[in-house]
Amino acid sequence: MHDKNLREVAEHLDSRSISSEELTRLFLQRIDTHDAALNSMITVCAESAIQQAQVADKAIAEAGGTLSVNKPLLGVPIVHKDIFCTKGVKTSCGSRMLDNFVSPYDATVVEKLADAGTVMLGKANMDEFAMGSSNENSYFGAVGNPWDQNRVPGGSSGGSAAAVAARFCPAATGTDTGGSIRQPAAFCGLTGIKPTYGRISRYGMIAFASSLDQAGPMARSAEDCAIMLESMAGFDPRDSTSVDRPVENYRQQLVDAEQPNALQGLRIGLPEEYFAEGLDPAIATAVESAVKELEALGAVVKSVSLPNQHLCVPAYYVVAPAECSSNLSRFDGVRFGHRCESPVDLEDLYKRSRGEGFGREVKRRILIGTYALSAGYYDAYYLKAQKVRQLISDDFQQAFSEVDVIAGPATPTTAFEKNSKTDDPVSMYLNDLYTISANLAGLPSISLPCALADGLPVGLQLTANYFDESRLLKTAHSFQLQTDWHTQCPPDYV
Ligand code: GLN
Repeated sequence: MHDKNLREVAEHLDSRSISSEELTRLFLQRIDTHDAALNSMITVCAESAIQQAQVADKAIAEAGGTLSVNKPLLGVPIVHKDIFCTKGVKTSCGSRMLDNFVSPYDATVVEKLADAGTVMLGKANMDEFAMGSSNENSYFGAVGNPWDQNRVPGGSSGGSAAAVAARFCPAATGTDTGGSIRQPAAFCGLTGIKPTYGRISRYGMIAFASSLDQAGPMARSAEDCAIMLESMAGFDPRDSTSVDRPVENYRQQLVDAEQPNALQGLRIGLPEEYFAEGLDPAIATAVESAVKELEALGAVVKSVSLPNQHLCVPAYYVVAPAECSSNLSRFDGVRFGHRCESPVDLEDLYKRSRGEGFGREVKRRILIGTYALSAGYYDAYYLKAQKVRQLISDDFQQAFSEVDVIAGPATPTTAFEKNSKTDDPVSMYLNDLYTISANLAGLPSISLPCALADGLPVGLQLTANYFDESRLLKTAHSFQLQTDWHTQCPPDYV
């Protein structure tokens, strides 16, 4: 049963061939057996999960199933990234700063998924404050990739990705500021979607870079992501950047993808800049053959240009640290966060609390961000980066006047070895080459598995125009109906 995807699990719950309690116990058992090696979880909520499962079982019995009442997530065990506030449960954001923080309220995403009937198994490991591409920046230790424990699962939602890939749960939540859903999805052989900025509420999601942060689902298939997204998305008056626009019936729309020639007439653009220096040839080959598959389904492929693509990484690594330096100023040991022992005065309290509470990468970003925002440098760095950001957005709009979807690799390489980039932040940042632009422009983007290279998953990334999540999910679903990359399981976790 652990190898079933979310839709299949939901069907079993609906037909009552398994109860939510049995399922929950099974996943808890798997976490217990395997997670010592992977370290994907920061907190496991065994007792409350079983209670929630019992409540779900009762509701299922009363309703006579889950699907007849259109509650496909009723009784489904999931994991939340530890960036989402969870009432009564530690919410650490991967940091010592919040190691003692038990949230008094639930994030909107958590609340919505609980209302949909999910069971929360626990909180997933992550890079500290979501800063990272390898999950090696967590105060709670690095996470292993289920495909090869000596390799990273990607970051910052690496715990969520490892947990889904290791079959500890059929789906998990993640957040994506510069690729943190798509890159770990690519490294772990999963499907993950970052929706349009504003599609999902950020309320109760600990802020990293507020103009880029967006939550999304990570699961094994596009169909599973569609089911999750439907429950996660929607307007929230508690988030001023949340968009007041009805949520589509993402799953229902996938039915079209099941027709032969499902992608008839879909215009796919391949940016020439993506297939340049830095891309592993094995990934280029995998992406090219995935695109051929889409063509066979009726899509028309053409070359497009994103001329400012080379500026994505530099622009992001000014904007994101600038926003993080501002957001993280609240963790001062007085209002929020870890407080040092016996401070001699206020300055000592600030210095030592922040010095002890934050890890190296977070400190590096706060320093870069503070510098970029300081008087005299603001115009040269921050303002300049914002202008570049506009150019990057304009490039996409130009491309979307010719095509419906932009395809390319999600990452320049497959999962790399642990400790291979920790001393070289720039080489770490370059991992985000293909994912960052969607965040800078606020566009929806999905990564789905399209090959194995030397036994490691490769991600195909598809990006669409604003609020066109449905098209991404449909395209990915059509591909997954023809291929079986998304069903591959890491050999040690079968
Ligand atoms: N890897 C990027 C960074 O370190 C993106 C992180 C994210 O999306 N949260 O900032």
